Amino acid sequence: MIRTTQYGKVTRFDLSRDIYGIRRYWTTAYLVDNWMIDTGCAHTARELLRLLADQKIDGIINTHSHEDHIGANFHLQQRNPDLQIYAHPASIKILESPEEYQPLHPYRHIFWGQVGSSFAKPFEAGSLIATENYRFRVIYTPGHTSDHVCLYEPDEKWLFTGDLYVGGKDRALRAGCDIWQVIESLEKVADLPAVRMFPSSARVRENPAKHLREKADYLVLTGQEVLDMHQEGANVQQIARSLFGGPMLIELITLGHFTRRRLVLSYLNQNYD
Ligand SMILES: [Zn+2]
Repeated sequence: MIRTTQYGKVTRFDLSRDIYGIRRYWTTAYLVDNWMIDTGCAHTARELLRLLADQKIDGIINTHSHEDHIGANFHLQQRNPDLQIYAHPASIKILESPEEYQPLHPYRHIFWGQVGSSFAKPFEAGSLIATENYRFRVIYTPGHTSDHVCLYEPDEKWLFTGDLYVGGKDRALRAGCDIWQVIESLEKVADLPAVRMFPSSARVRENPAKHLREKADYLVLTGQEVLDMHQEGANVQQIARSLFGGPMLIELITLGHFTRRRLVLSYLNQNYD
């Protein structure tokens, strides 16, 4: 299922697989000036293509290589083999061979699906991608993944944050995320004079700096609490329970890939895989 919302010149698509009327784990893609910023997941790719049937697409910019952000790359590039796709240098081989470099856990197959190959050009930090009317500055923002970027349009003061900011106060973390890098990246983009933030999954917000700083501050404070408890001899499970409460549904659904425990471990620099 795809919901479309217009924010001035920016079109937002919220995308989710419909499983017997249940829709969970929405992802987001944007269309601006005939360019897509991310393309949703494989399960919604055909619906997205139907929506874009009469829409000229000049290019795609991927914020990172997770399967719920690159899902229609393959289909759009198949429709137009000359379509330009830009992504972080570390994303390129994942986009080309997603099955090899990004094998999916069962829950990822169910909610988002296996994506097909697409071919992208790498961009450097600080480079500008020019569309017909805008230019998007690439800001490297590792943490959620090592190949994550945000995009900033300096004239409109738009900030596209991908999965760096998906709202509020995290109580769990996905395996492989680096929480200290997330904090650093949040602080980096909070310094931009952006007026509107277009995140993934979370709602569009005005005054991005306020929200980004609030989140960074919360994560720093939480990190301090984790380190204090750890120093006092509490184990990972005790810290997770004390700071983030009881078991969460997402821990069960992801079979331990996205958990409170992994958030604690990342603060302790021990969250690998
Ligand atoms: Zn992601």
